[in-house]
Amino acid sequence: METLNIVLSAFLRRHIHLRVRGYSLPHPKADDTASLVLSLSELLMAATLQSASPRPSLYLPRTSTIFGSTLKFGEKEQTRLRLLASFENDTSLRLKASRRPEELTEDVLNKEEIRAKLGNGCNLFDELKQRFLCFKKDIYLKNLEHYQNLARNQAPKFVVISCADSRVCPSTILGFKPGEAFTIRNVANLVPPSENGPSETNAALEFAVNSLEVENILVIGHSCCGGIHALMSMQDEVDSRSFIKSWVIVGKNAKLKTKAVASTLHFEQQCRHCEKESINCSLMNLLTYPWIEEKVSKGVLSLHGGYYDFADCTFEKWTLDYKGSSVKDVGDRLSIKNREYWH
Ligand SMILES: [Zn+2]
Repeated sequence: METLNIVLSAFLRRHIHLRVRGYSLPHPKADDTASLVLSLSELLMAATLQSASPRPSLYLPRTSTIFGSTLKFGEKEQTRLRLLASFENDTSLRLKASRRPEELTEDVLNKEEIRAKLGNGCNLFDELKQRFLCFKKDIYLKNLEHYQNLARNQAPKFVVISCADSRVCPSTILGFKPGEAFTIRNVANLVPPSENGPSETNAALEFAVNSLEVENILVIGHSCCGGIHALMSMQDEVDSRSFIKSWVIVGKNAKLKTKAVASTLHFEQQCRHCEKESINCSLMNLLTYPWIEEKVSKGVLSLHGGYYDFADCTFEKWTLDYKGSSVKDVGDRLSIKNREYWH
C-alpha cells in the first residue's frame, strides 16, 4: 500500500505539472484500483508524449500526416483521447487491472512495456529518431566533406516531378542521394501549362531550371495512381468544392486522349493508359514555358518521362524528341526516343 501511496503522490504531482503544460487527465479514484491504473497509464502516455516533444504545439498539429494516414485533430485533447481509446481497449491491461495493486504499480511503471503497447504515435518518432541518427552516423559523418559542400551549394542534375503518393519515392526507387535531384511532388505528378498561371510546381521549376540550371527534367508516373483515378472518374470538369478535382483537371488532355483511344477498355485499364498519357501531356506542358523551351531547343536541357509500376516493380523510361515534337501543332504532336524498360 505504501508503494501505491508513493505512486499516487508522484502521479498527482505530475498531473498538476501536465495540466500546466496543456494536458488534462481525469482524476484517479483512490478507492478504485482499476481506475487508478488506467489513470496512471494515461499519465505515462501523456508523459511519453510530453517527453517526445518539448514543443507540444509542433507535435500536435491540427492536421497530421504520419506514414500515409491523415489524422484530423480539433484540439490536443482529441489526440490524447484517440491514443487512450486504443490503450484502454487492450485486453491484457484489463486483465492486469484485476491483479494485486503491487503488481499493477510495477507493471504500469514499466514504461518500455507501455510504449510498446501504444503501437503508434511516439513509437513512430522513436523509429524516425533512430533512422536519423543512423543516417548521421553511417552516411553524413562518413561523407562529411560532401555534405559540408552541399550545405553551401547545390547543383542537382535532375528535376524530378513525381506523385505525392507514399509508395512512389524517387530517392528510394532510383537511388537519388542528397543533392542529386531537385524534387517536386504533387498529386498525379502533373505539370500545368504556362497559361494556367502560378503554382507550386512551376515556381519550383523556375528556380531549378533558371537558377540551378539542371540538365534533365524527369516526370515520373506510377501504377494505381489515385490522382489519375480521380481525374478519370470526374463527371464535371470543375468542382470548386474539391481541391483534388480542381488540381487534377490539369490532366484533362490526357483524359480526353485516353477516352479517344481506350474507351472500350475496362475502367481500370483506361486509368493505366491515362497514367502514361498524362506523363506525355506534362512533357508537352513543360514546353509551354519559354525558359524551358529555349533550353531544350539549345540542347542544354532534356525532358524525360518515366513510369514506375510497383505491382511488378518495373520502370519504363523515355526521352522527349524535341525536334519531332511541337506544342504548336493541332493535337500537340509528341515524339519520343531512347525508350527503355527496366525490369
Ligand atoms: Zn499518384
